[in-house]
Amino acid sequence: MPQSDTVNRQWILNRRPKGEPDADTLKLIETDVPQPGPGEMLLRAEYLSLDPYMRGRMSDAPSYAEPVEIGGVMVGGTVSRVVASQLDGFAEGDWVLNFGGWQDYTLSDGTEVTNLGKNPDNPSWALGALGMPGLTAWAGLTKIGQPKPGETIAVAAATGPVGATVGQIGKILGCRVVGIAGGPEKCSYAVETLGFDACIDHKADNLKENLAEATPDGIDVYFENVGGKVLNAVLPRLNDHARIPVCGLVSQYNATSLPDGPDRLNWLMSQILIKRMTLRGFIVFEEFGQYYNEFASEVGGWIRDGKLHYREEVIDGLENAPNAFAGLLRGENFGKRVIRLGKD
Ligand code: NDP
Repeated sequence: MPQSDTVNRQWILNRRPKGEPDADTLKLIETDVPQPGPGEMLLRAEYLSLDPYMRGRMSDAPSYAEPVEIGGVMVGGTVSRVVASQLDGFAEGDWVLNFGGWQDYTLSDGTEVTNLGKNPDNPSWALGALGMPGLTAWAGLTKIGQPKPGETIAVAAATGPVGATVGQIGKILGCRVVGIAGGPEKCSYAVETLGFDACIDHKADNLKENLAEATPDGIDVYFENVGGKVLNAVLPRLNDHARIPVCGLVSQYNATSLPDGPDRLNWLMSQILIKRMTLRGFIVFEEFGQYYNEFASEVGGWIRDGKLHYREEVIDGLENAPNAFAGLLRGENFGKRVIRLGKD
């Protein structure tokens, strides 16, 4: 059923997944469209962002954010339009960036809602390079990674919204950039379109050897998006005083146990010590939200000037969101994955 004026479709959390989310994890229900009261507005979603962190919200394991309750609407960033407003600063027809979740309609009092105006260019980009993933890349790289011209940056998930932005900013800042991505098509795109110096396919044989060849001077900044075997291949290449912004570990999000193998924790700690490395985890809005305007002006300018490319993968239909999300965690996306659910 497509979006309608009278029904609010909602994906609610039905069961906490063990491993990959499956057909039982989420349930589609229909409720009434809420009516705004004084000081409120009604928002209708046009685009829903799919992001790896959503896997964490399905789980009740201890984390930096509360999980979605069983029966609760799945959380997520959205670009919406104002249907009706009793709120200063927001009028019918405005496009907004909000955190509406996996549903058609939300009521809002305007808190943490950004007005994008009546006729924004590419409104869905506010969910990608011009929004949360873009800020993550910009702030994680410049504030934690602190790359200097001539240094080497390595980044995995290299064609996704975070990785692609990290690598392109690295090039703008005068660094050698080596991407790691899943498959030859993504790797060609990273080099030919994004301008990376090299890109290593982590699905091909000889990951360690190929990465060593692509990083003859070692790695000064490793922007950690994935963990797992990519991290294993990167560790021996890290230089003295390397910086590692620990942004995400997407290869582990569906894991149900620790990996087999020898315990390498003490080896890792000794590497951190011997090479005097800095590892720093971060959660973007907790630490870097105050830089949003600076980021938006700098990255927005690079996009306008054609210095920074952005690839988006639009999937139609709210009904397709669960499969599209499970595929994102398997690396099936090529670029920023968003669901188009709205009528406009
Ligand atoms: P992407 O759109 O890049 O999607 C995830 C990608 O991860 C997949 O496309 C795939 O790319 C890669 N991947 C999946 N499984 C594996 C695996 N086993 N080994 C190697 N790569 C794998 O995601 P985003 O750009 O939105 O996010 C990138 C990272 O940033 C994630 O870890 C996310 O959680 C994190 N993040 C953290 C934030 C923070 O505040 N700390 C905020 C936003 C994002 P490929 O096929 O190329 O391998």
